[in-house]
Amino acid sequence: MCSIAKDIGIDLGTASVLVYVKGKGVVLNEPSVVAMDKTTGKLLKVGAEAQAMLGRTPGNVVAMRPLQGGVISDHEMTVRLLQTLFRKATKTGLFTPKPRVVISVPSGVSEVEERSVINAAIEAGARRVFLIEEPLAAGLGAGLDIRGPSGHLVVDIGGGTTDIAVLSMNGVAVSSSLKVAGNYFDEMIARYVRRQHGVVIGQVTAENVKIQIGQVYPRDEERSMNVKGRDFKTGMPKVITLTSTEIFEVLRRPARMITDEVLAVLEQTSPELVSDISENGITLTGGCSQIWGMDLLIAERTGIGCVLADDPDACTAYGAGKSLAWINHMQEGPINIARKRAMRG
Ligand code: ADP
Ligand code: MG
Repeated sequence: MCSIAKDIGIDLGTASVLVYVKGKGVVLNEPSVVAMDKTTGKLLKVGAEAQAMLGRTPGNVVAMRPLQGGVISDHEMTVRLLQTLFRKATKTGLFTPKPRVVISVPSGVSEVEERSVINAAIEAGARRVFLIEEPLAAGLGAGLDIRGPSGHLVVDIGGGTTDIAVLSMNGVAVSSSLKVAGNYFDEMIARYVRRQHGVVIGQVTAENVKIQIGQVYPRDEERSMNVKGRDFKTGMPKVITLTSTEIFEVLRRPARMITDEVLAVLEQTSPELVSDISENGITLTGGCSQIWGMDLLIAERTGIGCVLADDPDACTAYGAGKSLAWINHMQEGPINIARKRAMRG
């Protein structure tokens, strides 16, 4: 029996958690959702199975997202989530040694938040915990040479936040985070459908609309899809047809907020790094960067080439996984991102 613990890399996101096992790659990609019994406090389901329960749970069951905006909002449930995923990923038994874990954390975290991620991972069964700043992991996972002096710009559009960062020499030179990302897009779509069509749709349906026919840049062919919701007035089920043209109108403004922030970050970046970025191009990562036309929109607004990374939703996990190669040289415990941020001014 092999009893060497496997090192693992984790992208602990608001929307999804990905687990990378050294030597194997990304072995798990699950929604960050847990379902529990309210009366007994017992954990019922984790990940995709728990997500299927969102919005349709019976009275005593609650399905929830223990991470909000990239940070832990429910400690106990995050521990349970991680515990289950560690077990699934490494198939550990009672006597297998505990893994060393690299976890990515958003650039905006406080020291307290860093510690809470570390504690949750330890409680969930990690032997030692190392943190990596999310944009560095995303850039690394996207295949950028982030260790050299040349500057790169990574825009990661996830569920809760969009994180924009200029990377150079294994560090973050400038960064910004805004709460306009996938969830916000979904919310705007649901609100629009209610106002314009008088139909109430759930979060999962709104997300589907975004993925199927969402766009943030003009497109030649119009597409449409039928969605089922509840008539706001009668309370009865109703099917309506939505077109990509109307969803484009809904998403224009939030997409513009993202490009405005990219421009603001470029304005704060030194001329040397901006010149590197204009040569290297802008890299898009994160699940929601796949919405149609995001690359085209950012390229048009900035005048800089923009490329969607391969496997954009797995980049951060790949990066955390790649960093396992130098885990012996990494600093264990808090890395004090907040202080680094303050020193950047
Ligand atoms: P996080 O890092 O916050 O966990 P992810 O990077 O996993 O988030 O991205 C999740 C977001 O990406 C969700 O809002 C989801 O709806 C969105 N998303 C996933 N696939 C697509 C797609 N093909 N088109 C548009 N949005 C997508
Ligand atoms: Mg992410």
